[in-house]
Amino acid sequence: MSAAPEISVVIPVFNEALNLPLLFSRIYPVMDGLGRGYEIIFTNDGSADNSLELLRRQFASRPDVTRVIDFNANYGQHMAIMAAFERVRGRIVVTLDADLQNPPEEIPKLLVLVDIGHDYVGGFRINRKDSLFRTVASRVINGVRRSTTSIVMTDQGCMLRAYSRAVVDAIVRSGANNTFIPALAYTFSSNPTEVGVRHEERNAGVSNYSLYMLVRLNFDLITGFSLAPLQLFTMVSMACAGMSFLLMIVLALRRLILGPEEGGLFTLFGILFFLISVTMVGIGLIGEYVGRTYQVVRVRQRYFVREMIESP
Ligand code: UDP
Ligand code: MG
Repeated sequence: MSAAPEISVVIPVFNEALNLPLLFSRIYPVMDGLGRGYEIIFTNDGSADNSLELLRRQFASRPDVTRVIDFNANYGQHMAIMAAFERVRGRIVVTLDADLQNPPEEIPKLLVLVDIGHDYVGGFRINRKDSLFRTVASRVINGVRRSTTSIVMTDQGCMLRAYSRAVVDAIVRSGANNTFIPALAYTFSSNPTEVGVRHEERNAGVSNYSLYMLVRLNFDLITGFSLAPLQLFTMVSMACAGMSFLLMIVLALRRLILGPEEGGLFTLFGILFFLISVTMVGIGLIGEYVGRTYQVVRVRQRYFVREMIESP
């Protein structure tokens, strides 16, 4: 590869052997048709099928524009993208999924917006083709994100996105202590925009995301961008403490005016509730400090590249 390409396409691959041949036959013509210099970087994220073999063969047939990063194990979609971000050569970086849910034919649509000066173009899925469960789950997740962080994103799950190199470099420099790339990119961009992109059914295979992984990912997202859960806990426990304090006063007055009830049992409750809420506020406060410490000490998640398959 002589001169630096203008566009870098980044594709994470995890057990996509059934999709890769069709992906190759669709994405290369689209990129060739642009008439601009490009490279496509595939990260093999520890696939157990023969994805790596297919990627090797594709490299052999298009060594000028193909690069493959081969991880030794599975580190997850976002780490796969990060590894490619650290190695991109293009001025514009495009990410998409390998399963053809993001049609490669939509890439030019994103590039038009980058060309008119946007440094971050997020795709959102019009006609989403996922199961009802996934669609509803995303809607809930999008809502939670909107109310706990200041990130504006119509569709956080859509990976068809374009970034300027400056934004990508900023993501890499940030140490990737956070795994949610589209949200990170949003915080670094100065002129972001969004565009509707087509969404297709997964060509073959099943989604690699279980409910558990989705919950984990979103927990990362919320804890990574805000301390809202901790603060919520502190607020709720302070409200409890206030109410128990009132209850204690009511019970104390009642005892003075009407005399002890049930052998003083309720008075005991009053004291108990109050002490419990003091403990809860204490835990909340400790949590606030732990949260701040956590923000400072979070360190980068590592991955290991077994082999780089690229032209010198
Ligand atoms: N992927 C990956 N590592 C993983 C899981 C997924 O590189 O551990 C890739 C996968 O090959 C695909 C993309 O990330 O290119 C999106 O994965 P998937 O289609 O399973 O997710 P969904 O479309 O259900 O969100
Ligand atoms: Mg998919």
